[in-house]
Amino acid sequence: MKIGVLALQGAFIEHIKMLRRLGVEAVEARLPHQLDDLDGLIIPGGESTTIGKLATSYGLIEPLRRFAETKPTWGTCAGMIFLAKDIGIDEQPILGAMDITVDRNAFGRQIDSFETDLQIAGLAGGPFHAVFIRAPVVTAVEAPVDVLARLDDGRIVAVRQGQLLATAFHPELTDDLRLHSSFCDIVKETLA
Ligand code: GLN
Repeated sequence: MKIGVLALQGAFIEHIKMLRRLGVEAVEARLPHQLDDLDGLIIPGGESTTIGKLATSYGLIEPLRRFAETKPTWGTCAGMIFLAKDIGIDEQPILGAMDITVDRNAFGRQIDSFETDLQIAGLAGGPFHAVFIRAPVVTAVEAPVDVLARLDDGRIVAVRQGQLLATAFHPELTDDLRLHSSFCDIVKETLA
């Protein structure tokens, strides 16, 4: 099993370290051909406008769309924005792989970063300490999307649609390997 982390911009090194701590082969992916032998891909947090621009100039948009159609792909924060079908901004390049609507600037300026403990559906071992940095939220989901976690006010911050996973927060900035381990389980299921 080999998992790539899209390494255009943002917190890709942290994801690689988490995967390696789980004993999984993890590599940086920047070019279309580097997707060919990957079994799964993580799109990290960072700045979704920059990730979108770089993905466009590296010729990655279509290859990433094709990849996400069949292979496990997990977007965190900016990666969640990049995976969404609708972000309400026509000019910004996104993959449109998941049937979710995402509000990029959901928390405004004052509380644009915070940490909280989340209950995540299907994740054993208690709440997950979630780090939100200028985070998005999911404002609407279509039928095949499962909601995995909400904030206390009901806003959706983690979703799964088949082999696709998206979280509004940054699990790679904690010591908790459970979400990375769950993603590896999704990858294993598709290989079985
Ligand atoms: N607000 C950022 C964006 O629009 C996402 C922030 C993050 O990934 N931590 O892309």
